[in-house]
Amino acid sequence: MSADVSDLIRGYLTRTGWEQGPPGPAGALWRQGRTAIAVHEVIRHGSAEWRGVIDRLARHEIRSRESVAADIIGRPGEELPLTCECCKAAPATHLIVADFLKIRRVVKLACEQCGGRDIGYGKGQPPTQVRLYTITEVLDA
Ligand SMILES: [Zn+2]
Repeated sequence: MSADVSDLIRGYLTRTGWEQGPPGPAGALWRQGRTAIAVHEVIRHGSAEWRGVIDRLARHEIRSRESVAADIIGRPGEELPLTCECCKAAPATHLIVADFLKIRRVVKLACEQCGGRDIGYGKGQPPTQVRLYTITEVLDA
């Protein structure tokens, strides 16, 4: 079965100014002005739903399907953009390392916005120490 690319599609739509409508049983309707695109909860790469979304975006942006698809999933030989694990909408630029009483450590990729605020660590005690690195710092280390 091919990969679920729905997160990449939602990330692309968010980056390019679409607004997500209320979720329905099968997905959500995204709008930009008077144009709407239905985005299913799960979209497999190469499926009819994938082709539907690409067709609609290509017509809306007046460019080729290939170039829209490449902007969503990346081009061959190009590394996939790391996506923020908190909002799943923006490219990850930071790494958050949160320690809980030296017992548990949570490491998450984050975007600038999510990295700058209290991200959800679930129930219970807040972390005892939080460090935030930019991804360049991590790669240089
Ligand atoms: Zn984020």
